[in-house]
Parts: sequence; C-alpha cells; structure tokens
Amino acid sequence: MASRVCAASRPGKLWLRETKQKLSQILKCSPVEIIFNSGASEGNNTVLKSVWNEIGQVRSEFMISQVEHPSVIKTADYLESLGAVIKRIPVSQDGQIDMQFIKDNLSFKTALVSVMFANNETGTIFPIAEISQLAHASGALMHSDCVQMLGKSSVDFASLQLDYGTFSAHKYYSLKGTGFTFVKKGSPWVPLIHGGGQERARRGGTENILGIATLGIVLENFSEANKKIPEIARLRDLMENIILQKAKEVFITAAASPRLSNTSNMIISGVDGETLLMSLDLKGFSVSTGAACSSGNPEPSPVLLNMGLTRAQAQNSLRVSLGINTTESNIRDFTTTLLAVIEKLRSLNEINKEEKYDAVK
Ligand code: PLP
Repeated sequence: MASRVCAASRPGKLWLRETKQKLSQILKCSPVEIIFNSGASEGNNTVLKSVWNEIGQVRSEFMISQVEHPSVIKTADYLESLGAVIKRIPVSQDGQIDMQFIKDNLSFKTALVSVMFANNETGTIFPIAEISQLAHASGALMHSDCVQMLGKSSVDFASLQLDYGTFSAHKYYSLKGTGFTFVKKGSPWVPLIHGGGQERARRGGTENILGIATLGIVLENFSEANKKIPEIARLRDLMENIILQKAKEVFITAAASPRLSNTSNMIISGVDGETLLMSLDLKGFSVSTGAACSSGNPEPSPVLLNMGLTRAQAQNSLRVSLGINTTESNIRDFTTTLLAVIEKLRSLNEINKEEKYDAVK
C-alpha cells in the first residue's frame, strides 16, 4: 500500500490504463471495449439512447424487464416519448422472467433487449445468456445492467454474449461516482457527453482518476475475493434459516430462484419496513427496505409491486446485503437483534390495535 501512496503522483493515464487492463482480463474483452464513466446510470442512459439514435429509424422497438433500475426504466419512458415502442417483460412473484413474452415479442423491429444480470432488490439472477441468444437470433442488440455481478456471482461475463454491459464501481468495494461500460466492438455508440477526446472521444470530460485508480487497486484482490462467494451464500442461507425457524409469517422473496450470494429480501408480515429499518439502524445494522439508491423514498418498492406482491407486502419488506467482510458472528448478532425487534414491533402493533378497538367502543 505504501508504494501505492508514493505512486500517487503517477500520471493519471497510467492508472487509467492499468485499471482498464485489469477489467479487460476479468471481463475477457479488449481494453478498447471498456469506457470509463460516472456509473451505471450514465452507462444505461448512453446505451439505450445510442441504440435509439443509431438504429431507431430502422428498428424502433425496445424490450426491457419490469424490474430494471430506474435509469433503464426512465430512459425507456423518455425514448417512448420520442416514438420508440417499449415492450416491458413481466417478472413473476417467484422472480422468474417471462421467457415466452420475450420469444413472442422479438421481431425484426426489435433494436435492443435490456435485462439486468440480477435484480438489486431481490438478488434474482436472470438467464442472460439465453436471452442474448434469442435477441441475437432476431438481429437485436443485447444489453445487461451488470451492477450486481462482480463479487456476487461467479458467472463468466464473456459467456453472457452481450453487446453492452454497464457497471458501477461502488458496487465493488470502490468509490461512488465511478463506473464503466463494456461496448462490444462495432456496436452503435453516441457519446452522452460530447467534449474532449477522452475515452477515444466516446465520453467527454476529464476522467475520475481517483475513482478509477481505487477500482484498479481493489481489483488486485478480485480472484481472492471471488473465492469468498460460496461462504457469503452460506452465511446468507444461515441467516434466512434462523429467521424462518424463529419468526412466524416471514417469507423470502424469490427464494426458489437462482439468486446472488449476498442478497436477501424478506417480507415480514405486520412489521413496517421503514420502522424496522430505523430500529435496526439505531442498533448499528445498516439494511434497506428497497433499492439503496432510492432509500428515503417512503413509497413501497416498484420492483416488488411489479413482481405482483401486494402494497402491504412491499411495505413489510426488508433487504439485507452481505459482503466479503461479513462473519458468522455478525449474522448471529444480526438475527438475534432482528428477531427481538420484530417481536417488539409486532407486540406494539397489537397494543395499538387494542387501543383503537377500545376507542371505537
Ligand atoms: N443499476 C443497478 C442495478 C443499481 O443497483 C444501481 C444503483 O446502485 C444503478 C444501476 C445506478 O448506479 P449509479 O448510481 O452508480 O449510477
């Protein structure tokens, strides 16, 4: 690390080149196919708008899943306002994407299929390689928001056969405000930011060298960190089993679907997610009720609603994410605290109900 600190005066270009080199080894692509940017919101915007701008006249249809991040959903809404046709692929309550919908709706008019690698709220992993194959067979391009991939799944990025993959560095133990997009050679691309010649004139603006260098340093441990994925999954399963065994009326969202190793989304009947979140926060546990990027929004998660959960269920949801530093003792402390908080909140609910009943009488 000391040598790294001394090396802070290295020219930014060297950091940039080195991080790009490491990413290209991990993604098994050419360094030229990686464009640094501010994160996946920018990446998702640029991909969808590029495809619309470049081939929208010939192919005007886009297909996105109903559980995409808002940076895909809202960009698609925007393209719709410009004349694009947007087909929204349903996802069932058990986390399965409707493959028949994809097959039925792909045509020579489809420009792009955009389905995330895994959902950030439920952790459900979608069959991207299979969807890519279908999209390509009809001549469409394939994009996946891969924000939830690195460090959480051992799937080989190259096997997904994507034309575009979008990433955020802060989802891989790095700084916020840095990201990168994989753009397969020859795929349509129109810069979102025009300016200097940075990133081969594909993304104007001085690069975020601190963010890029940090990502490069963190990636040095990529293989080692990946070895921890099965252990993270074991701890996640342990956590879920303890909770399911000891608390009544709890279910795990999309439990039977392939899921990321680190994510658990649970519906805890009769317990308001926001109240639970605050109680856990006071006890030193940082969890979330929906997407971390929309925390602070009291509305129930659109992802859960779009999967067919009721409003009440979505309001009773809790999302727990584990990381490479999570230990079994953390899990045991967390589950003990969570179970106690659930019991307390449920008994307060009962008292409130009785008081309301007495007042009515
Ligand atoms: N896509 C997914 C699946 C996310 O979870 C997020 C946010 O964390 C984003 C896109 C947006 O990333 P950023 O805020 O880095 O632009």
